[in-house]
Amino acid sequence: MSVLDSFIAGLPKAELHVHHVGSASPRIVAELAARHPDSPVPTDPEALADFFTFRDFAHFIEVYLSVVDLIRDAEDVRLLTYEVARDMARQNIRYAELTVTPFSSTRRGIPDAAFVEAIEDARKAAESELGVMLRWCFDIPGEAGLEAAEETARIACELKPEGLVSFGLGGPEIGVPRPQFKPYFDRAIAEGLHSVPHAGETTGPQTIWDALVDLRAERIGHGTSAPQDPALLAHLAEHRIPLEVCPTSNLATRAVTDLDRHPIKEMVAAGVLVTVNSDDPPMFGTDLNREYGVAARLLELDAAGVADLAKNAVDASFMDATGKKVLRAEIDAYTAAWRG
Ligand SMILES: [Zn+2]
Repeated sequence: MSVLDSFIAGLPKAELHVHHVGSASPRIVAELAARHPDSPVPTDPEALADFFTFRDFAHFIEVYLSVVDLIRDAEDVRLLTYEVARDMARQNIRYAELTVTPFSSTRRGIPDAAFVEAIEDARKAAESELGVMLRWCFDIPGEAGLEAAEETARIACELKPEGLVSFGLGGPEIGVPRPQFKPYFDRAIAEGLHSVPHAGETTGPQTIWDALVDLRAERIGHGTSAPQDPALLAHLAEHRIPLEVCPTSNLATRAVTDLDRHPIKEMVAAGVLVTVNSDDPPMFGTDLNREYGVAARLLELDAAGVADLAKNAVDASFMDATGKKVLRAEIDAYTAAWRG
């Protein structure tokens, strides 16, 4: 481990773009598979490690869906959520806005109230026992269409769990135009939720404009294609609309062909508030610390630069002012102690 890597490992961090099911590590999947012995997912650690070795995007979808198939009751949801927080604590992640897709679970027969109770129960336990503060982004799985949008908005607005801060839109972008989701975002925004759709990961800058104009996005998930449109980059910088950049995920999904060609440098050079995130970390063979290492290399950052990147995530988060102040101070104290 390089000196900078150990600095990153100990650095207190916030993560803004990371998916619930996509965070299930082999350790967590083994626990879930043990609860459901009829599942085809291996429980043997070696076979499971092989199953998890990232091969290509099709393989990622296969792994993802087999994990979705293991989330069958509220106890599975609680276990997954709490154990994801445990993996975060090991990386010194203090705060995370976890993207949760309630539709995948309610469609599979888990009652909405039981689902919400399970994540909330895990959230409270994670905060008091692990020191990880979790908040939720409820997202629409775009590929499931307007039925999923309706159900996600209903659950968000009617059940409105305490930890819920935002409303999102994920899944494929090609063939799933953003503007059709406007009524659902309007409803969520009217309930006080922040708008954080994925946009411009596998499509061009127009999708990002659509997310800004129609869905009133306050942050953009990915926004990889933003540098193709200088006016868009200028708009994002001027209005301080942060981008949630996930470098390794972009490579895995072929949104970028080569990490060295990742547009993060152009984003930063244009003055856009850039945050670094892990998306679906174990499934892409990464974690947040590793993504910070990638960003540090691409942006040629030293420890102070990496600490600034961590503070970007705090600033771009939906934490309250006090929470932001506390976490910023923690980052500063850690950085000062490191230098000393
Ligand atoms: Zn994502």
